[in-house]
Amino acid sequence: MVKIMRVAIVEGDGIGKEVIPAAVEVLDALDLPIEKVPLELGYGKWEKCGVAIDEKDLEILKSCDCVLFGAITTPTDPNYKSVLLTIRKELDMYANIRPIKPLPGLVGVTGKNDFDLVIVRENTEGMYSSIEEIHDDVAYTKRVVSRKGSERIARSACKLAKDRKNEITIVHKSNVLKSDTLFLGVCREVAASEGVEYRDMLVDAMAYSLMSYPERYDVVVTTNLFGDILSDMSAALVGSLGLVPSANIGDKYAFFEPVHGSAPDIAGKGIANPIAAILSMKMMLEWMGYEREAALVESAVEFSIKENITTPDLGGSSSTSDVGKLMADHIRNNL
Ligand code: ATP
Ligand code: MG
Repeated sequence: MVKIMRVAIVEGDGIGKEVIPAAVEVLDALDLPIEKVPLELGYGKWEKCGVAIDEKDLEILKSCDCVLFGAITTPTDPNYKSVLLTIRKELDMYANIRPIKPLPGLVGVTGKNDFDLVIVRENTEGMYSSIEEIHDDVAYTKRVVSRKGSERIARSACKLAKDRKNEITIVHKSNVLKSDTLFLGVCREVAASEGVEYRDMLVDAMAYSLMSYPERYDVVVTTNLFGDILSDMSAALVGSLGLVPSANIGDKYAFFEPVHGSAPDIAGKGIANPIAAILSMKMMLEWMGYEREAALVESAVEFSIKENITTPDLGGSSSTSDVGKLMADHIRNNL
């Protein structure tokens, strides 16, 4: 018997409302046993109801296997609680996974196309522990690194590495931050016990090296803040923010979203690139075990670029929905 997967579909705000429908159109073309559960969350909901996400929403999310998510506008209003942080915490999705892989025929800031790496970022502790003390003249943020947190992210990285080149690069700043001595030590122990090759890099040297020699890296594992910065920076390696997908994975739930935000400057114009959302949906298919279908989605993405059916960020003149339609047709023709 095939398990029917329940997927919460959260379009969110801004271009989330454009790129997610395109990704869903491509998903529908695959005709898989998936139940879609639409859910409204975010700034739009907050403006209407005074909350961006409530207990009932969390219950619905927990009743699903995973979430396909667009983007949410986070206002600076101090009363607004971040939807993403709430979901990550409630569903304990501790691994943020970002593949940085250029599409055929496209290059980013380095002009290179010969690399394929994945950044694995710890998602629940580090600098984003929310343990803070604010006074008039001084403010503290506690950086939390636990054995348990480091172990589980190191295991996620090793699991990924085994399907790739069986090597990880551990990124840290242990010469200055004693908490990273623990992180580095635990990652080394886990890699050794899993039989995965490992090396380590200081984060500052890594920033330079990633932008100069991305081809030297495969699976990169690091703590929360360093991972946040390195993964946004690495998006520049592939060309457009509109191309980079991501997954947040825990032991039970998973959450798939494009790296870009709600991009209010281009929202409503129908010109947002849906590829990041479509590749996030592809990561969802891989997580579900639909490898063949995931490969088909990737070939549809490559087909759209080959046919020059692209949005303006890639130099084309097609709309978000044109791109989604072309890919959905390509899939139906090749199923
Ligand atoms: P948010 O506050 O929700 O993160 P933002 O203003 O930071 O929104 P981002 O979505 O992070 O905007 O993107 C930054 C810029 O990159 C946007 O202003 C937009 O011009 C461009 N951009 C982002 N995503 C896409 C996309 N899918 N297609 C085309 N351009 C994009
Ligand atoms: Mg942003």
